[in-house]
Amino acid sequence: MSDSLSRRNFLGTAASGIAATALVRPSVAGGVEAPALHTTAQAANIAVASGNGLRGVERAGQLLAQGADTLDAAIEGVKIQELDPNDRSVGYGGLPNEHGVVQLDASCMHGPTKRAGAVGALEGIKTPSVVAKYVLLYTDHIMLVGEGAKQFALSYGFKEEDLMTDATRERWLRWRANRGETDDWINVPSDSQLVPRQTGTINMNVVNSHGDISSVTTTSGLAWKIPGRVGDSPIIGAGQYTDNEIGAAGSTGRGESNIQVCGAFLTVEHMRRGLKPTDAALETLRRVVAASEDRLIDDRGRPTFNLSFYAVNKRGEFGAATIYPSRYAAFDGSEASRRDTAYLFERNG
Ligand code: ASP
Repeated sequence: MSDSLSRRNFLGTAASGIAATALVRPSVAGGVEAPALHTTAQAANIAVASGNGLRGVERAGQLLAQGADTLDAAIEGVKIQELDPNDRSVGYGGLPNEHGVVQLDASCMHGPTKRAGAVGALEGIKTPSVVAKYVLLYTDHIMLVGEGAKQFALSYGFKEEDLMTDATRERWLRWRANRGETDDWINVPSDSQLVPRQTGTINMNVVNSHGDISSVTTTSGLAWKIPGRVGDSPIIGAGQYTDNEIGAAGSTGRGESNIQVCGAFLTVEHMRRGLKPTDAALETLRRVVAASEDRLIDDRGRPTFNLSFYAVNKRGEFGAATIYPSRYAAFDGSEASRRDTAYLFERNG
C-alpha cells in the first residue's frame, strides 16, 4: 500500500496547495477572530530541524523541490536519524529505558488535511515517525501506544527488530552497574563514571513554495527513563504542532517542561499574533522558565535543563531558540546549514 500523502491525494486536498499570494482566512472561534498571517508570495521550500537534522533538512529540501508532499518530505528527513545506529537519541540505536528496552515516541501533523498521528512507547520498530504517519493516514485516532501501537505497525508489514546496538547495550549495562552504591550490581570498573543521562530527538518543520506546512518529531526519549514514560515528542501541541494557516513548531530537550506549557502549540499561537518564528520560540521559553518548579531552578534563577523550539511560518521565515546556546539545522530554499539558536541565558554567564 502506498504510504505517500501526495500519491494518495488524501481527501483530495493534499496536493491542492494554497495560492502563494492568498490572504489567509482568519479563523473564527466563538465570534472572536484569531489573527492570521497575511502571506506574501514566497517561492522557497524551507525545512527547519534540531541540530542532528542537517542531512534530514537537505533531504527534505530535495524532495520538496521535486514536488513531494510536505509531510512525506519531513518524514524522509527524520528517517535518516531513525535508521542511523550512531544517533543515540532516535530510533535504531536510541538509548533504552531503565530495563534495557528501547521505547520510541513520535508524532506528526499534516497541515493541508488538518490531520495528526502519534505513537508512544513503541517497541521493536525502527521508524516510529512512519508508524505515526500511518495512524494519521489510516485511522480515526490520533495516538496509539505500547503493544497496540506495535501490533498496528506489524499489521502494515513493519518488521520487529532489536533496536539495541552493541554500543547502546554496553552503555546501558555500564549505567546499570554504576547507578548506585547500595544496589546489587558491582561497579564495573570501580573507577568508571556513571554514563550521564542523555537527551536527544529530531524535530522537523517544513513549508513548501505553495505555503503548505507539516511537522514531525521522533525520539527514543530520555535515556534510562522509567519504563512506560512518554515524553513530549508524541504529544500533539507539545512535541510538534502545525496550523496550515500560520506555521509549525516543534521541540527537543526536557520533555516534561515542554508538556507543561503545550510549547509547540503555544509557539504557533505566538506566530498567529504576529511574532516572527525566533521571537515566538523565545516567548515560549520564557513561559517554560516561569512555569518551572523551584527544584528545576538554580540559585541564580536559571533552569537546570535545556529546551529548544524550532519554528517556521507560512511565509517561509524560520528560526530556533533555546534556554542555553545551541545549534539547529535549516534548509533555506537553496542550501542546508547549521546555525546558532537564539537563547535566554549564556551557559556560564
Ligand atoms: N524531548 C525528548 C523527551 O523528553 C527528549 C529530548 O529531546 O532530548 O522525550
